[in-house]
Amino acid sequence: MKVFSVFGVSLSGKTTTIEHIIAELKRRGYRVGSVKNIHFEKFTLDLEGSNTWRHKQAGSELVVARGLRETGVLFPQKLGMDKILSYFDHDYVVVEGVADTVLPKILCAGEPGEIESRFNDLVFLISGRISNQLTEYKHVPVLNPLREIEKLVDVIEEKVAEKMPFVQGLDHCNACGSNCRDFAVGILKGERRREECVYVKDRVSLFIGQQEVKVNSSFVAGLRGLLDGLITQPENYNPLDEIKITIGKK
Ligand code: SF4
Repeated sequence: MKVFSVFGVSLSGKTTTIEHIIAELKRRGYRVGSVKNIHFEKFTLDLEGSNTWRHKQAGSELVVARGLRETGVLFPQKLGMDKILSYFDHDYVVVEGVADTVLPKILCAGEPGEIESRFNDLVFLISGRISNQLTEYKHVPVLNPLREIEKLVDVIEEKVAEKMPFVQGLDHCNACGSNCRDFAVGILKGERRREECVYVKDRVSLFIGQQEVKVNSSFVAGLRGLLDGLITQPENYNPLDEIKITIGKK
């Protein structure tokens, strides 16, 4: 699954850019999902007094509203991006309005000053209203979502790699000799390979009785993520250490 973020100030053209990207990715045959980050403090999908609101007030930790045309899944708390992305299994996921991740990013801007204040080394493309004025900024292409959507999605296909195990980064790990953010920048520049991350490497073997069961990298990343809180507890924890789990009789 490939994931990238589109960020920028309000009215910079983010949503228009995303609409056109999603439509073009779909036209190319990809399965596409999206996440919209909402910054309004009082935002809620649930109306006060509705039945689902009453379930939530009573303490339900996961409320599902199942209608004839839509199903809404309501968590009564803000989820982290890693958790949210674990519910997707699409070819591409577009994340709108989340800047604090190690995801590759498209920066949308309306004015040159908005680029200068937000530009960073995870930005691989610039779009939004500014694409009516510029074609390039510090060797990063500036592309218009209305007139140049094919070129724009070509860049996405070229630059966005498979999602790393942790989109918000792990501060303590450094097993790749780097941190998650610098590693993600290295991937974007073609200087590092995803497999160099210890959470991606196929180092997990699963045996049921004497029989080995094949596991894929999503399983490895999911398992390491689940164990993360536990395996950092011992002193001198080394991410390269072997982990043994035994379930059932010895
Ligand atoms: S090994 Fe992976 S999880 Fe650890 S710092 Fe490097 S990229 Fe991040």
